[in-house]
Amino acid sequence: MKLKEHRAIVLHEDAGQPKNGNIEGLVHWMKNERPDGAFYHRFVSGSRIVYGRSTAERCIHCGNNTYTREATAFFGEEHCPPWDHRERPHLSSPNNCTIAICMLHDFEGGGFSGETLRTTARLCSELMHFYDLSLEAIWTHTMIVGQETKLCPRAFHTLQYQWEYFQDMLNHFLNEMEAAS
Ligand SMILES: [Zn+2]
Repeated sequence: MKLKEHRAIVLHEDAGQPKNGNIEGLVHWMKNERPDGAFYHRFVSGSRIVYGRSTAERCIHCGNNTYTREATAFFGEEHCPPWDHRERPHLSSPNNCTIAICMLHDFEGGGFSGETLRTTARLCSELMHFYDLSLEAIWTHTMIVGQETKLCPRAFHTLQYQWEYFQDMLNHFLNEMEAAS
């Protein structure tokens, strides 16, 4: 199924123990054993980026019964129905208009290394440039579905400096790109 449009980028983390850069192991597990069919467009660990699905295609990654007020305001009722909708899979959801990036956490508790944060920021800046997205288009899974549903990526909601470092890097890469164009 194709993405209807590219409105935003949604950041996720992998669950469980830190995988020490084993993106292939995670991809294999998701493809073969994860029951909900969830998948991502890109996987990041340290300086590595592994391609999951084409950004032309839709991934299942952030659908929910309800969405935050902020998400409903940004994505509109077409993508974030403001009622509790229970159809499965969710046909109207931000999955139809978002790019999903999975960041492999490097430390217990969900923390990311500086390298993982930098690589993700660079990747985001490139996608933002390509799809003409503004900073408002950067979302976390939690910002879309709410903390009570999912804390993801944990570090961006529990470790303030990680979110700040990421945004700082993102601005840096965006400015660099601006200067080059
Ligand atoms: Zn997530």
